Amino acid sequence: MTQSHNYIDGHWVAGESTVANINPSDTRETIGEYAQASVNQVEEAIAAANRAQRQWANSGLEQRYNALMAIGNALMARSVELGELLCREEGKTRPEGKGEVYRAGQFFTYYAAEVLRQMGEISESVRPGVEVQVTREPVGVVGMITPWNFPTALPCWKIAPAIAYGNGVVWKPANLTPASAVALMEIIAEQNLPAGLVNMVMGAGSKVGEAIINSPDIDAITFTGSVATGKRIAGAAAANLTKLQMEMGSKNPLVILDDADMAPAVACAVNGAFGSTGQKCTASSRIIVTDGVHDQFVEAMQASMKSLVVGHALDEKTNIGPAVDSGQLDQNQRYMKIAEEDGAELVCGGERLELETPGHYMNPALFVNTNNDMRINKDEVFGPMACVIKVADYDEALAAANDTQFGLTSSVITQSLSRASHFKKHAKTGCVMVNLPTSGTDYHVPFGGRKSSSFGSREQGRYAAEFYTHVKTTYLKSE
Ligand code: NAD
Repeated sequence: MTQSHNYIDGHWVAGESTVANINPSDTRETIGEYAQASVNQVEEAIAAANRAQRQWANSGLEQRYNALMAIGNALMARSVELGELLCREEGKTRPEGKGEVYRAGQFFTYYAAEVLRQMGEISESVRPGVEVQVTREPVGVVGMITPWNFPTALPCWKIAPAIAYGNGVVWKPANLTPASAVALMEIIAEQNLPAGLVNMVMGAGSKVGEAIINSPDIDAITFTGSVATGKRIAGAAAANLTKLQMEMGSKNPLVILDDADMAPAVACAVNGAFGSTGQKCTASSRIIVTDGVHDQFVEAMQASMKSLVVGHALDEKTNIGPAVDSGQLDQNQRYMKIAEEDGAELVCGGERLELETPGHYMNPALFVNTNNDMRINKDEVFGPMACVIKVADYDEALAAANDTQFGLTSSVITQSLSRASHFKKHAKTGCVMVNLPTSGTDYHVPFGGRKSSSFGSREQGRYAAEFYTHVKTTYLKSE
């Protein structure tokens, strides 16, 4: 059995214990044992990052560019192999696994280019003879806490801008997906970076995570995960007045209007609701359909769902892999019952499946006659379950879409430019899609939401500079 270590101050080190990483498609397979860092080791990692960051902040831009480019290229070149590893430990299908690793590489090549575009601003002062310069400086050492559902791409969209803008990193990956974390760390460790600049400490949130978020030597915290954990982290950050950015859950609405083309509408719904086994923050969990096309949509959706193959993540035929672990599958099943208790009507799917290999499988489920008062439409379930909410017209659809505590993404399927424009303007979400699924975003533009879905400044694209740098305003009197 392979034992994988933490990466602290440029060295691979054993932890105080290990956890087993189990394949959710075949629970007889243990992928490896993964070191759990002690609190002392987290402190060593933070101290190392502080030392290395001071050196890195003075590094030449070309050294940064070369390191980021090399990491990005390595990820893209190894996307099939590392994608497979991701499938084995998280349950993604082959295209999902490969696609995620390739995208992870693109974050690095994008920020490699951004390294060379770090320009300041110069302005005249209101006082004659004084020049004003506005420049950006690294924020320092960034603590990163990441979830299991995008275990490669998500850390990359944090680590790439962090080091591009001159910061050090102490990263805690999720304990359910440590193999992808170790593989990414191995690629980063091969580059010409100061020892200790990027550290990876594996372990439970309650121990390793807490040690990071409560440290006074961490200058900024970036977190992606559930709202409950986010609130806890916000409390810790407030106590130290630590800069904070968080991306959390959502209940993304996909609105289908009477004038929608049915085939693309169904394709968007299936992709958005069941892609990645519904385990994504951008999943289309609420499908809001106007009366005129409701029955036609439900029928077409049911027909399309019949062809979806649930199976072992590595099987080429599989469209929907397993839930990540038994806890997630139990939660999905619990919400199947809750939905029916609240009066939702199950059209198809939802049952646990026993397949050739023992894994956490269930059929994707579709509910109709649901409304926003039901718990299935209020809570983030994170499973392959979609709920149809029938509405009379566009105005009701928009109101239903916004009637949630979350606000990450939303989508409208329509042929009307004026409806699409109205929706774009009035949807209370950070990202809006028109004639596209609620999931699927680019790497060069800002990503994030509103309300309980996000806190702080945006991730990705140039907007990431807001979090990973401090702005400095200098007044220069030279005469
Ligand atoms: P989670 O909140 O349980 O865990 C996320 C991370 O936080 C893990 O690494 C965990 O170990 C750590 N953690 C837990 N308790 C902690 C504590 N007290 N202190 C510090 N760290 C702690 O979330 P999860 O189940 O791993 O991931 C699923 C959630 O992530 C969903 O809610 C999903 O919507 C969200 N998510 C959001 C986005 C986005 O960009 N909005 C993207 C992906 C996932």
